Amino acid sequence: MDEWEELRSAVSNCTKCRLHEGRRHAVLGEGPLNAELMLIGEAPGAQEDMTGRPFVGAAGKLLNDMLGEAGLSRDRIYITNIVKCRPPNNREPLPDEEEACLPYLIRQIVLIRPRLAITMGKHSSAALLSMAGVRINGISEVRGRLRSIKVGDVELTVLPTYHPAAAIYNPRLRAAIVGDLRIAASFMSRRRSSILDFIEDEEHRSGH
Ligand code: URA
Ligand code: SF4
Repeated sequence: MDEWEELRSAVSNCTKCRLHEGRRHAVLGEGPLNAELMLIGEAPGAQEDMTGRPFVGAAGKLLNDMLGEAGLSRDRIYITNIVKCRPPNNREPLPDEEEACLPYLIRQIVLIRPRLAITMGKHSSAALLSMAGVRINGISEVRGRLRSIKVGDVELTVLPTYHPAAAIYNPRLRAAIVGDLRIAASFMSRRRSSILDFIEDEEHRSGH
């Protein structure tokens, strides 16, 4: 078995947290295994649980539209979530569930080695930023800002934004997400060598 098959099978058979009890399909993620851009949402919903694919319900349709507006193509992005099984009644994932599931996301990042990860919503944003020792109180205070973190041996830039489900009935959030996705598009169009100029974290800014 190759490493992806192994990971897929581990997640499909996983019973590390209570969310395995109600799942129809675990949703590992989808997209090119050498994607330079990764998108991390919260948790599968009803459609995702039914199909085994991430972001295929209403939030997914909105996400596709917003990616298009920002000039990003979904086919070139690896899309996943912070927890791989659907929480009952679409409740938010609990801290112990996120903790149990995080090693799978770390494995995905280490195998894919993306340059940029867009974290959508407070759960995935908090989980990734906590790897850099950053604690957040809310998504508003960190969204739209690039920050570099290390995941295993991977130097990863993280860009938090709002969750697309929050934007379905909120045009202001929708516009904010599209704005953040444009930042991602512009980051992706830059060459690796000039990335440091672009990262807005204190460590890098202080040298200028
Ligand atoms: N669908 C997903 O796959 N993830 C989310 O966070 C929301 C909807
Ligand atoms: Fe395992 Fe993650 Fe599913 Fe929990 S959510 S059962 S940790 S795959």
